[in-house]
Amino acid sequence: MSQTVDPVRLTADLVRCPSVTPEEAGTFAILVPILEAAGFECHRCDRGGVPNLYARKGPKGAARTLAFGGHVDVVPVGDEAEWSCDPFGAEIRDGVLYGRGATDMKSGVAAFVAAAVEAGQDLPPDTALSLLITGDEEGPGRDGTLAILDWMEQAGESMTACIVAEPSCPEIMGEMIKIGRRGSLNLVFTVKGVQGHVAYPHRAKNPVDGAAELAHRLATLRLDEGSEHFDPSTLALTGIDTGNLATNVIPGATAVRANIRFNDLHSGASLTERMRGIGDEVAQAHGLQITLKARISGESFFTPPGELSDIVARIVADETKVIPVLSTGGGTSDARFIRAHCPVVEFGLVGLTMHQTDERVDVQQIETLARVFTRIAREFVS
Ligand SMILES: [Zn+2]
Repeated sequence: MSQTVDPVRLTADLVRCPSVTPEEAGTFAILVPILEAAGFECHRCDRGGVPNLYARKGPKGAARTLAFGGHVDVVPVGDEAEWSCDPFGAEIRDGVLYGRGATDMKSGVAAFVAAAVEAGQDLPPDTALSLLITGDEEGPGRDGTLAILDWMEQAGESMTACIVAEPSCPEIMGEMIKIGRRGSLNLVFTVKGVQGHVAYPHRAKNPVDGAAELAHRLATLRLDEGSEHFDPSTLALTGIDTGNLATNVIPGATAVRANIRFNDLHSGASLTERMRGIGDEVAQAHGLQITLKARISGESFFTPPGELSDIVARIVADETKVIPVLSTGGGTSDARFIRAHCPVVEFGLVGLTMHQTDERVDVQQIETLARVFTRIAREFVS
């Protein structure tokens, strides 16, 4: 009974499902029979209209359980005319597979499914492999991996460590493993003044003046110099907006929007306080009213280098002939939820074309990734 899964074919099959967030669009109907035939127990943990799938082989609560995490949803195609192929056609040209989700991250899901089926054939006693697959990573993320984790807790499921198969390598396969991520904080300042005629500015209170100073203060702020494992935190202005198109009107209000990517020297709450303080100072100086709406979309996290990153780094180096860097850079992923449950690292393919038109992946890299995952799974539970 030696069942094997071709990770390239599986990637292509998944890409042909138009699973734009939060749809799974037939991907689970492909994955579940493969996993069940290989002896995995599959559970749907849908929540809030989001499809989620959990699968495990080996006993529940085993002494060692390695989990893989990923998503089958994809971002929208964008302007289809810009594509050189059908975005859901999974066309393979010169050894390169094209399609939305080819790198982010149906190839990652296909690679760990193939690896789990392979390594699951000879699991030692009291060990298990599990898979956490969501349909909502590219969306709000509230009912995706979080829903699976809630379900797991209720059902008494556990994991010793987890690998999230997001594309982690900037340009070369094998060059980067993510062991943490910066946090993300969204800020919307509303600067309120008094609307008026531009010819009589003394009768108005111009919020654009205050917004300009606020924006300048934010843009020139240095939050820190970086920490042992993280680069300096960054703040990016994302908008200054009055909605005012008239040339003779001083608007009544202006919005200043920004996003902060922060390291482990801050928390979302400490930064929110600091930003509110800056808003208050500018409000006072200009006699304006400034309110702040802040939303933390993830705290920073960090898995200290240890057993998990050692195994992953050694096998990645061996299979790709590239020594991977352990990094905490880049955007957020569902690893930010999983880290509350067990050590987690991210390793996957080259992310160069993710979310772009003509998203594509070198099919050889999918095969390499499946080999890497198979070896990691075998070694972790051995
Ligand atoms: Zn992704």
